[in-house]
Formats: sequence, structure tokens, C-alpha cells
Amino acid sequence: MFCPKCGQPDQTPESYCRQCGIFLPDLSKPVKSPTTPEVHFKANIVLTVMTIVTCITLAILLWSMLALGPDTHPLIYVTAGLMMAMSIWHVQTLWRTLLLRKHFKRTTIKRELEPGAAQSTDKLLDPADLENIVPASVTERTTRHLTADGRRSAEPEHQADRAV
Ligand SMILES: [Zn+2]
Repeated sequence: MFCPKCGQPDQTPESYCRQCGIFLPDLSKPVKSPTTPEVHFKANIVLTVMTIVTCITLAILLWSMLALGPDTHPLIYVTAGLMMAMSIWHVQTLWRTLLLRKHFKRTTIKRELEPGAAQSTDKLLDPADLENIVPASVTERTTRHLTADGRRSAEPEHQADRAV
């Protein structure tokens, strides 16, 4: 690839330009969409519910199958108690997650309804097509100064900088 700043050819993407030193991102790679808070909330709720169900089930199984016998080891009671404590702990985590989600939703709606608030541009514009992007500086600085036999002229002129 070419460096978009100085036009130096044969550059490696995801590295720094050998001539001017700017960082060259790999534009052929798909842009990773950021994880939204809603996705985090959803994952958190699902995992918390699964943990609660597992903990309560294990506590009940331990208690019903092993406890209250004549030679029950004290560790059985400790483990069952720990499982119950963990499920209670996760119930309050779930409760806090739900409260936080409600709060987050409310503030998002409020922000959108506020007059003069900055609108998020991803709702107004299509996502940038980075697949076929050719920075203007590259074409200007590399194609203009070719000599007749196809080589770059020895002295590059930076006309593009002045002609704005
Ligand atoms: Zn460069």
C-alpha cells in the first residue's frame, strides 16, 4: 500500500510509514463494531440467572440427598450454605443489573429528546465504506509526477498542498 501522507509505496499495513512515520491502519480489514451496553446487560442477566439456578439446584440436591443423615459430614452443610449464599449474592447482582439497565434506558431516551442535543451520526449516515477508499493525497502525489517511462520524477512537487 501507499502511505496516505507522503505517498511512499510498498508499505506494510498495521505498521509505521518508513518515510514519514505515520501509522498506517489496515483498511482492508473489516471494522469491528463496538459492543453496545445493551449486549453487556443481556449477557450479564443471562449469566446471573444461570448462576442463580445452578446454585439453588446444587444446594437443594446437597441438602435433600446428603444432609440430616446420622453421619453427615459438616462440610456438606458448609457447601450447601455457600451455594445458598452465592445464589442470594447473584439475586442482588441481577437486581442491580436490572436497575442499571432501566436507568441507562431512561438517560438514553432523555438525551435523545433533549432539544439541541448532538445527534449521533450513525443514525443519519451510512457507515463509511473503507473497502475502496483511496486517499486523495495518494493519487495526487503519486500519479502526477510520473515520467514518460513510468518512473517517478526525481523531485516531487507538492502542488496539492497549495491548490486548495
Ligand atoms: Zn509516509
